[in-house]
Amino acid sequence: MWRFYQPVDVRFGEGEIRQIGRYMDERGLKKALMVADAFLVESGMAGKVKDYSGGKIVDVSSDVEPNPTLKNVADVAEKVKKAGADCIIAFGGGSAMDCAKAAAAAVREGCSPGALLSGHPIACALPVIAVPTTAGTGSEVTAGAVLSDKEKGIKAAIFSPALFPAMAIVDPELTYTVPAKVTAATGLDVLAHAFDAMSSVKASEATDALALKAAGLALSYLERAVEDGSDQEARQGMAKASLLAGLAFSQTGTTGSHACSYILTSRYHVPHGEACAFTLDAWLLVNAKARPALEQYAKELGFGDVQALSDRIARMKGLFGMRTKLSELGIWAEDLESITDAAMSSSNMANNIAQIGREGVYTIFKSKL
Ligand code: ZN
Repeated sequence: MWRFYQPVDVRFGEGEIRQIGRYMDERGLKKALMVADAFLVESGMAGKVKDYSGGKIVDVSSDVEPNPTLKNVADVAEKVKKAGADCIIAFGGGSAMDCAKAAAAAVREGCSPGALLSGHPIACALPVIAVPTTAGTGSEVTAGAVLSDKEKGIKAAIFSPALFPAMAIVDPELTYTVPAKVTAATGLDVLAHAFDAMSSVKASEATDALALKAAGLALSYLERAVEDGSDQEARQGMAKASLLAGLAFSQTGTTGSHACSYILTSRYHVPHGEACAFTLDAWLLVNAKARPALEQYAKELGFGDVQALSDRIARMKGLFGMRTKLSELGIWAEDLESITDAAMSSSNMANNIAQIGREGVYTIFKSKL
């Protein structure tokens, strides 16, 4: 038995962002607070979206850190209440979207962001219209949000069907100006979403189809998009890949590469996509042993076997200047035990098809010394 539940109203296409005012009207939404990445405000892009809304976006909150903190979420929730907004527009990368989703829940639940992270059940949230500007985190179609608790030094996810955005406007045009380094890291995250979905205990024919298509698009277009940001076909391909991978892991959750990534980000400040890519090539080999379908999928993607696919991902990381050794991240042999413990404590580790235990995860990290 498998289930596929996906309530997000997705609008995909070049220039779709110009319709945001009309889409708000369709839903009877009258007043929005926008959560936007700071550089989108500085570049004037957030102002343009405000204009497209026909005055319905009444305020903008742009002080969201790369991994939204509880304080960031609390500040947005406060602004929403003050403005009397009936929805939140999330404009930016994963952090803006995650912050908006968590704030939408905090407002409706009448609780603090800290309570959400400690397991306060989330039954309802304000409608969120997610507008991703990177390709991408897929957060526009998922029911989770990753938050960081700075005091406790942890990065953890909250989940609830109520956290699905009401609408996602995926407009490839918004990604044209993303710098090469960010394109590379977020694009590797797309590959990690696709292969994590295929490596999940919850993988189904439906999620495999989406993940396989996403992986194929990302393998065809990521290098092109990094090399030449104005390559529209490549940007479109990556926007599609990001959305499809998001739809896949919205059902399966993420697995090994993401479970291993959180500690690299929270303790060593490695950007999310780079942190997931760090062990992705190794996880592919491990998971193909537990799920032979991965060998078949590697062939469908044009590789001789899963080893060749894993090698290609390793080469892409090198080409993009990603760090591939723990020493480059400032992690040494004496840290292996503690990063392994952290990875094992991630809830998505249990979601991974190959149950290799603590020793197996330790071996993966050790191979990256
Ligand atoms: Zn990710």
